[in-house]
Amino acid sequence: MRYRLTKSKFIMGLQCEKALYLDIYKPQLAFHSQETLARFRKGRHFESKIKSMFPGGIDISMELRGAVQRYPELTARMLCEPGAVTLFEAGFQYDEVLVLADVVQKAADGTIKIFEIKNSQTIKEVIRHDVCLQHYVIGNSLPQLSEKSDKALVLKSFDIIYNDGNDQPLYEELLSEAKAAEPLIARQVAHFKEMLQGMEPNVTTGSHCHMPYECPYQRYCEGKATAQTDLSF
Ligand code: SF4
Repeated sequence: MRYRLTKSKFIMGLQCEKALYLDIYKPQLAFHSQETLARFRKGRHFESKIKSMFPGGIDISMELRGAVQRYPELTARMLCEPGAVTLFEAGFQYDEVLVLADVVQKAADGTIKIFEIKNSQTIKEVIRHDVCLQHYVIGNSLPQLSEKSDKALVLKSFDIIYNDGNDQPLYEELLSEAKAAEPLIARQVAHFKEMLQGMEPNVTTGSHCHMPYECPYQRYCEGKATAQTDLSF
C-alpha cells in the first residue's frame, strides 16, 4: 500500500515545510554532518541496549530488511496470531503515513503496550510530537487488525523510554496526551499532504534550520555543494 509520510518526514515538516518537500522530492540533496551521524550512532546504541531488555522480541527490520513497505503486513500477521508476542520496528500504516514502533508488546488477551526509545535526557516537544503521530497511526490501525484477530487489539499504554544520563532507562507514559492530540495530528497530516501537491515552499533560512535538529538541506538553501545520505526513519 502506498505511503506518503513517515515519522521522520512528519517531524521534519513541523520544523520546516520546505525541508519536508525536499525530503520527498529531492532527498539526494541532503547532507548530514559528522555530529549528526554520531548522534544517530549513539541513538542506535541506546536503542539496542533497551531492546535487549525485552527478551524474545522479533525484529521486523531483520526479517524484511529494506522492504519497509511490507513491514505493516508482517506486523499485522504477527499481531493477529493467538498468544503473546513482542515486536521490534513494527510497521503500521494509516492515512498514507507509515510509522515503525520501536517495541510493541502484545499480551495474550490482546492488550498492547508500546515503547518508544529516545536517547535523550529530557522529553522534548519533538519527542511528544513523535509519539502523538505514532498513536494517531497505530490507534487507527488496530480496529482494522482486530477484525482479523481472535481477540480485540486494544492499546493499553504508550511509554517513552529515555536516558537517565548513564544509559539506564527512565519511563514516561503519554497515552492520554497522545489521544488528546489526535485531531491536531489529523489536521497536520492533511495539511502536509496538500502542501506536497504544490510547488516547493519559499522559506528563507533562519534559526529554525537548527532547531530541534540541524536541517540536512542547509547547503542547498545556502546555495552550497550537496551530498547524499539516506537516513529515513
Ligand atoms: S535549511 Fe532551513 S529553510 Fe532550508 S529546508 Fe532546511 S530548515 Fe528549511
